[in-house]
Amino acid sequence: MLRKAFLTLLLIHGLVLSLASSSSSSEEDGSSEQEHDKKGHSHHWGYTDQDTWGSMFTDCNGKSQSPIDINTKTAVHDPKLPAISLQGYDLTDQPALTLLNNGHTLQLMLPPTMRIMTGFDRPYYAAQLHFHWGTVEEPGSEHTIDNVHFPAEIHVVHYNSKYANISEAANKPDGLAVLGAFIGIGLHENENYEKILSALKDVSVEETKTEIPGFNARHLLPNSLERFYRYTGSLTTPPCFQTVNWTMFNDTVTVSRKQLAALEDTLKMEQNQLLSKNFRAPQLLHGRHVVASFGDTPVQQSPKIVSLKEADSSTRPRASTGGVAGMSRGDILAIAFGGLFVVTLLGFFMYAYQQRKKFKKDSRQNVIYKPANKEDA
Ligand SMILES: [Zn+2]
Repeated sequence: MLRKAFLTLLLIHGLVLSLASSSSSSEEDGSSEQEHDKKGHSHHWGYTDQDTWGSMFTDCNGKSQSPIDINTKTAVHDPKLPAISLQGYDLTDQPALTLLNNGHTLQLMLPPTMRIMTGFDRPYYAAQLHFHWGTVEEPGSEHTIDNVHFPAEIHVVHYNSKYANISEAANKPDGLAVLGAFIGIGLHENENYEKILSALKDVSVEETKTEIPGFNARHLLPNSLERFYRYTGSLTTPPCFQTVNWTMFNDTVTVSRKQLAALEDTLKMEQNQLLSKNFRAPQLLHGRHVVASFGDTPVQQSPKIVSLKEADSSTRPRASTGGVAGMSRGDILAIAFGGLFVVTLLGFFMYAYQQRKKFKKDSRQNVIYKPANKEDA
């Protein structure tokens, strides 16, 4: 009876294991798309052939590339990081702002009167902001937190005020500062994001633009700018210049599911294909450090786990809707396996115990039997 139960458990265990391995291989289907999407656009680049960026843009093979996975356990609190203060973000409806679909993203042009005043050696002037997103099934933030993707990400690109404009600054080591924030899904429509998203249909075709009234762009970023991660990296698109001082805010902003769907489903790129999944895979740190402006990050972490995670970071695991506290499918599987393992172990011990009892009983019978034998002799 017990032996039967134990065998059944083993069978279930094996079945779940094989199911899990087949599901994890299908998660990497994105790579198979890469092969049949090379249509000879040698001067173009796309998100389905990220591995080839380096052959045309050598910086994409560099050792300070972005995005990265932000490991909250190894990020070190730097109390000397100066706070970020913004100026001129509170635009009024005039002058209007140009919104465009450049075939890679949705981009809003910003005036240089929008500035980061403190946080860096010099003021940095805004040039543009844009977004990265995925699909309903695949969250599309570029940076990840502990290997978890968020549904989308906003980048506000600034250039060092010591340069005349962004194109002059873009390839200088201290040229750019990008403020990035994760976009999650909330219950309510985000009226600030709606000021951009309501104009999506007007730029659905590649290389089209429209004008939208100015608005307070500060509201596109999280309420708190105090908690952020900082590291040195690159543009996340070709030419991948390694000239970006990255700030990723810890707090997220939220938009409604409907708003995210609009971002994911409206824009078209070349040959009328849907413009989606415009995020680059996380890049290796190559010895870079991520510092945090806040100190409650737990510090202990075994080095073995750290290096495994880093090696892993390009495989792009996913979370359903993102959220640092939200469990990824991997977490759930791990818990399921853990539970199953314990049950199997328990079954095994019960079985072993039963066997031992039986054996003891048998051996006791032997003991009783022996003296009888002796008497016989
Ligand atoms: Zn970006």
